[in-house]
Amino acid sequence: MTDTRPELTTRIIAAGPEGIAGAAGILRDGGLVAFPTETVYGLGGDATSDRAVAAIFAVKDRPRFNPLIIHLADPSDAGMLVDMDWRARLLAETLWPGPLTLVLPRRRGTRVSLLASAGLDSVAVRVPAHPVARRLLAAAGLPIAAPSANRSGRVSPTDARHVLTDLDGRIPLILAGGRSAVGLESTVLDLTATGPAILRPGAIDRAAIEAVIGPVTADGPPGETDEQPKSPGRTARHYAPAAPLRLNAAEVGPDEALLAFGPDLRKGPRVRNLSEKGDLREAAANLFAMLRDLDRPEVGAIAVSPIPEEGLGAAINDRLRRAALSA
Ligand code: AMP
Ligand code: MG
Repeated sequence: MTDTRPELTTRIIAAGPEGIAGAAGILRDGGLVAFPTETVYGLGGDATSDRAVAAIFAVKDRPRFNPLIIHLADPSDAGMLVDMDWRARLLAETLWPGPLTLVLPRRRGTRVSLLASAGLDSVAVRVPAHPVARRLLAAAGLPIAAPSANRSGRVSPTDARHVLTDLDGRIPLILAGGRSAVGLESTVLDLTATGPAILRPGAIDRAAIEAVIGPVTADGPPGETDEQPKSPGRTARHYAPAAPLRLNAAEVGPDEALLAFGPDLRKGPRVRNLSEKGDLREAAANLFAMLRDLDRPEVGAIAVSPIPEEGLGAAINDRLRRAALSA
């Protein structure tokens, strides 16, 4: 099956009350919508749905799963997703809504998709200032995962027409809201480690942040692309299970768990199947939750069935290979 479902007709509609209501309905049904923010246009999906988040990666043709920024209607929503410390609270009061993304510890029991945070114990949140984005987020009533609405390797879109050029036939709806005023990505600030650090320089500069919370460690120069995300530099801690992974496994050893893919007769408490029907979107949606599920102290290793290197399979294999290396 194809990942991108090119048979869709993509409509651009004005961001009036009807457009907002229609877009919010699509998001609540698990579909994707492109919408304007003050930084760039975002490709949004329900951040609590692994399937919707898998669809974001498929539509963008992303070769790997990097963590996505979760967009919220109101600063007070953040506490449901992440643990806000005093710095986060001060920054939220002073600089939200605005182009500042905060990386914070994932709150226990939050419904945010593990795929959206690439399996990490942290979640990146932001409250955009663009009035259309805010209205859409409020109408959807959901946290929305949204990377830039371009195909992987292309420049970020600052206009509805740019989005159409890249994603025509791949998503049902683009909300038009004029040009993005900032055109730069949001600044990504890591508040999970002891010292706050800028992971990605962006629209809000270091001085503006330091005026609120004091000294901040700066990172390298800007120039992030989808292929070369800067954020995972210092936080290169990609998610990896404690148990070693054995890839392209045909057989399962006595102390091993099995992460299967496709039709497979092997069943049991130590077996999970990413997708019995061999659907790569379903497999991507299940990947991090199933890895965590099988990563138990009594498991000597996790054997992983071969996964085709096509569509989202490439991103799944990329993540599995890195997890295998870092064990
Ligand atoms: P984009 O959505 O394409 O603008 O990129 C999102 C940026 O936020 C990337 O640089 C990600 O690496 C970064 N990011 C998102 N979530 C996290 C996280 N949990 N930890 C570190 N960086 C993150
Ligand atoms: Mg991008």
